[in-house]
Amino acid sequence: MMQVVQLMMVDCKQAVNLLIQNRDLIAPSEVVSQLLNTRNKCDSRYFLHLYLHSLFEVNPHAGKDFHDMQVELYVEYEPKMLLPFLRSSQHYTLEKAYEICDRRDLLREQVFILGRMGNSKQALAVIINELGDIEEAVEFVTMQHDDDLWEELIHQCLHKPEMVGVLLEHTVGNLDPLYIVNMVPNGLEIPRLRDRLVKIITDYRTETSLRHGCNDILKADCVNLSVKYYNEAKRAVCLSNEEDDARSKRDASRASQVITPSVRNMEVKSKTRGGGRCCMCFDPFSIQNVSVVVFFCCHAYHTTCLMESTETNSTNKKGTGGPSEGLYEYEYEEEQEDDNGSEAGGPRMRCILCTTATS
Ligand SMILES: [Zn+2]
Ligand SMILES: [Zn+2]
Repeated sequence: MMQVVQLMMVDCKQAVNLLIQNRDLIAPSEVVSQLLNTRNKCDSRYFLHLYLHSLFEVNPHAGKDFHDMQVELYVEYEPKMLLPFLRSSQHYTLEKAYEICDRRDLLREQVFILGRMGNSKQALAVIINELGDIEEAVEFVTMQHDDDLWEELIHQCLHKPEMVGVLLEHTVGNLDPLYIVNMVPNGLEIPRLRDRLVKIITDYRTETSLRHGCNDILKADCVNLSVKYYNEAKRAVCLSNEEDDARSKRDASRASQVITPSVRNMEVKSKTRGGGRCCMCFDPFSIQNVSVVVFFCCHAYHTTCLMESTETNSTNKKGTGGPSEGLYEYEYEEEQEDDNGSEAGGPRMRCILCTTATS
């Protein structure tokens, strides 16, 4: 049986390293129980702290059974490390930890625990009334993404003129300063109010000009992307079947020296997906004498197949079209044959694969 306590007494740092490195051989629970049950009380709690702290740094989950104990140990030996520990561990009991921090007057730790408990109003009250740190309060409320909490913040500040002042300085992007000004009771003297109002206005100017700048950038991006999109959409879609493809490849390799004006030399967006076959019935287009529809997504269909499935789809989910419906609508263009011209005036066609697939 290892004598953990004795090792620690010789050189606690090296002993801790040794125990951490060999934590697979000597389980943390074994080390902890030896340290807790030693008759030699000396510094065993401090050793325990050192060990659990190092263990937590190596693996935050390895000593999770002792995290409640660790809260007490941090308070005792290294209060500064408590908050980082509280933030990164998921294994301590919130109520117990809160009780300890409350007893020791550890305010920021209390705020954090209350926040994690979901008790953000009480947390805010601790920040405002005990820490008296309005900037932290603003930061806290910003992090919580809860509009009611802003109300709470204003209400809790109203009887503290200095805090109202600081609050006014932090409104940009969060609060309407006019709203706060209206809430302030008559006769309340707010220090440096003039300077603060000037700052608010300057901040708003800066924000407005920033937004204008962003809008300009956005517009330019829209134009550039539209141009790019248009250029993409202008390109041809090659509608060949696989046998033709293979033959032309053979021809091309045979006559590699001779430059022939073929489809290959022109700007072709891409071939239809499904290699010259209808995406509904998978027949090659060449074997049916039916007109063909190709969408910009490179899916191609027999007009007849597309009409059939559009009809069944529209009866199945009538009126379920979301706001994005229009995105996938393409004008029906007559191609190749025009013996199906009667459908040209019908409803807009859309690619079945791209509108029904969830991807
Ligand atoms: Zn088909
Ligand atoms: Zn498609």
